[in-house]
Amino acid sequence: MEVVQDEPKPRGGMSIEVLVIGAGPAALCLAAALAERGVQVQGLAPDDPAALWPNTYGIWGPEVDDLGLGHLLGHRWSDTRSYFGDGLSTAAVTHGIDYGLFDKTALQQHWWRICQAAGVTWERGRADAIEHNADGSIVITEAGERLQARLVIDASGHHSRFVKRPDEGPVAGQAAYGIVGRFSAPPVDPGQFVLMDYRSDHLSEAERRCGPATFLYAMDFGEGVFFVEETSLALAPAVPYEVLKDRLLRRLHHRGIEVETIEHEELCLFPMNLPLPDLQQRVVAFGGSASMVHPASGYMVGGLLRRAPALAAAVARGLQMQAMDGEQLSRLAWDSLWPLELQRKRALYCFGLEKLMRFSEPQLRAHFTTFFSLPQPDWYGFLTNTLTLSELVMAMVRLFVQAPWAVKFGLMGMQGRELQLGLRLVWPGAGR
Ligand SMILES: Cc1cc2nc3c(=O)[nH]c(=O)nc-3n(C[C@H](O)[C@H](O)[C@H](O)COP(=O)(O)OP(=O)(O)OC[C@H]3O[C@@H](n4cnc5c(N)ncnc54)[C@H](O)[C@@H]3O)c2cc1C
Repeated sequence: MEVVQDEPKPRGGMSIEVLVIGAGPAALCLAAALAERGVQVQGLAPDDPAALWPNTYGIWGPEVDDLGLGHLLGHRWSDTRSYFGDGLSTAAVTHGIDYGLFDKTALQQHWWRICQAAGVTWERGRADAIEHNADGSIVITEAGERLQARLVIDASGHHSRFVKRPDEGPVAGQAAYGIVGRFSAPPVDPGQFVLMDYRSDHLSEAERRCGPATFLYAMDFGEGVFFVEETSLALAPAVPYEVLKDRLLRRLHHRGIEVETIEHEELCLFPMNLPLPDLQQRVVAFGGSASMVHPASGYMVGGLLRRAPALAAAVARGLQMQAMDGEQLSRLAWDSLWPLELQRKRALYCFGLEKLMRFSEPQLRAHFTTFFSLPQPDWYGFLTNTLTLSELVMAMVRLFVQAPWAVKFGLMGMQGRELQLGLRLVWPGAGR
């Protein structure tokens, strides 16, 4: 709702250029990028922005190295592998690329220090409503405070109340149940990281036939501690935690492994193919609220780090143009966050995800075997969203050519919203 207001005063006479809603990775990443460009930023979140985040964030080693942030990893593995066969004796697919987990405190402090040095402060509170006028926007908190800024950026996560997006049907969720703990025997070899273990010989024939297909994501934390997580890549509705927990324990038991102590349980559920926000709206989004999760892998932190500088630079540029009204500033920001090329690539990823969600377990195994047999720059660039659109299309064509017929047939037939998503490769706005 666009409401015209007569000039409420910003708190304490402060001149806020950008108000960032949230204090998760997206909010801190963007606030830091804006602050580095001299923008006056204020944050708004119900909790202390320096309080530890609940999730663990993984990333490929070269991805974080290319950003110059390899030192922010808490763990790094060179023995990275997956299993796409169905039996225990199946051979591993080795990836030949490092994988890491962020040291959450270090990542948060990295952004937090930049914000603090630039004088960015966080107001404690929860945004309840947002009003707009020609000059800017006013965020009204649940406590009734009114915070005015020239631009509001919503980084309140996947379930934002303020970011409008079309309803395009069921949204697929990536769900996982994980345990950090000690086990009667090592779930993976020392120093090893397993991206996807799709072996399913611990399941009944009916479970294997009817799905859902789930995989183990596992790693050695050292000193006898391991992280094991049963994961469903994406499904609508999402696979319930009880099913994932049951499968994880059965998978371990089948290999003669029991859980001895649990240090931490991870319950993970987030949307993979949330529709793109309406790119004409006044409130700009970043992170989960801006549908920035990679629809084929579920990763986002690398994307935040790569995309925040361009958005921050566009906003800083727009703020310097006094003639630019609130509407134009938002448009400039949205255009820099979601340029047509990124929209097209996203359509392609969503199209691919739609296919994967229809695949049977044998088709999925065959698909991933082919995918990871592609040249490394193809599969790595696909997973990190660092290919150009034409490179991405070529990688997908190569995948199609190399795939066995069972996968080719699955890729060819158009069902549900696949045609619409395919059309968005050419016309990103198709059907929106
Ligand atoms: C368990 C788990 C594991 C994941 N693992 C990875 C991974 O390995 N790699 C990866 O890249 N991604 C991963 N993801 C996906 C994604 O990166 C995360 O969901 C990420 O936390 C989203 O970041 P965000 O900052 O957009 O939102 P959030 O982290 O959800 O932060 C939202 C912030 O907004 C605040 N907020 C909410 N509503 C309001 C309001 N009304 N007013 C003010 N503040 C508000 C919240 O308090 C919070 O501070 C994972 C997700 C989960 C759940």
